[in-house]
Amino acid sequence: MFKAFLIKYGEIGIKGKNRHLFEDALVRQIKYALKPVDGEFSISKEQGRIYIEALTEFDYDEALESLQRVFGIVGICPVVLAEDEGFDKLAQDVEDYLDRRYADKHLTFKVNTRRARKSYPIPSMEVNAALGEKILDAFPDMTVDVHNPDILVNVEIRNKINIYSEVIPGPGGMPVGTNGKGMLLLSGGIDSPVAGYMIAKRGVKIDAVYFHAPPYTSERAKQKVIDLAKIVAQFTGPIYLKIVNFTDIQMYIYDKCPHDELTIIMRRYMMRIAEYFAKETESLGLITGESIGQVASQTMQSLAATDEVCTMPVYRPLIGFDKQEIIEVSKKIGTFETSILPYEDCCTIFVAKHPVTKPSLKVIRRSETHLKEKIDEMVETAIETAETIVIR
Ligand code: ATP
Ligand code: MG
Repeated sequence: MFKAFLIKYGEIGIKGKNRHLFEDALVRQIKYALKPVDGEFSISKEQGRIYIEALTEFDYDEALESLQRVFGIVGICPVVLAEDEGFDKLAQDVEDYLDRRYADKHLTFKVNTRRARKSYPIPSMEVNAALGEKILDAFPDMTVDVHNPDILVNVEIRNKINIYSEVIPGPGGMPVGTNGKGMLLLSGGIDSPVAGYMIAKRGVKIDAVYFHAPPYTSERAKQKVIDLAKIVAQFTGPIYLKIVNFTDIQMYIYDKCPHDELTIIMRRYMMRIAEYFAKETESLGLITGESIGQVASQTMQSLAATDEVCTMPVYRPLIGFDKQEIIEVSKKIGTFETSILPYEDCCTIFVAKHPVTKPSLKVIRRSETHLKEKIDEMVETAIETAETIVIR
């Protein structure tokens, strides 16, 4: 029954010049989100509002679902946009709207008129009262409740008259692209896709890097990461995914360094390579799915050891989350089922039985000197041979 949506977005942080950047990014992300939806749409900005109008028949549920993935949207209002052809026509439009939208009329209501177009001849309060009467006459089961109505009938008088009573929550946050770019270390696990989602929610565009170790990790493990990136990209927009062959580096560390330090040292090389790509593509930080204490490589000491090799900030949006909380988000965003597929990831094959939980920086640095003969060359090769996939 609806041909248009009125999009409400947050006002915080979008004063002055930033406002149009915020709105343009939001429009761009809405277009991206609607691209796979059946139907054609026009998107327009008008006085602090964004309207989406369907130009053809369209799949309402699919459109709504897509819009609920656009960060920056706080409310999605299915709206009737009526031409201003006098009060009687307006009253008729509102009655038609209520009749179609609410099959059961045992409801309390309140009319809330806003005159954004000041030249409209009737003051808002008078419109409220007159429309209220019309509604009561048309639908005897409906009653007025000005304090706590079941439905708030919004009538906004703008270029066209906007009639809506439903505000479907959006995801909140800020439009992707309004807060720079970050490089996500994306593995096949539960955590890192959620970390990417959470950073993107604050307006950060993301690229990603995945380290694989063929033949120890399979093509299916790689495909799983690609599939996860695709799900995350539904929220973030296109993701440039770097796939780095990490086998030689991993084997070399395995040969030369104490096995209980393996994970930490490997993690340090992942960070170094990720940072190289981040700089190359103008990312402003690295993003991981780590949370304090989750595993041996995520104690405060281990995280400090990983950070030491980075000059960029490392963002860990899940730092204070329990596993169960992370799982809940992953279910909500649709990555969970893919994340739990059983394909090995490159870290599980080489993990020591008793990894260090409190690595000393001095010790780790000393162990890394055992790698000095070949490691620079290996890192260079890993960077040069990395594959880039654009995920849409
Ligand atoms: P996840 O569920 O994200 O795999 P995890 O609990 O398994 O996390 P670790 O394996 O210790 O944790 O990895 C910690 C973080 O390091 C991950 O969240 C991810 O950001 C990064 N990471 C780990 N392995 C890889 C990999 N093969 N490629 C890219 N990033 C990785
Ligand atoms: Mg993992």
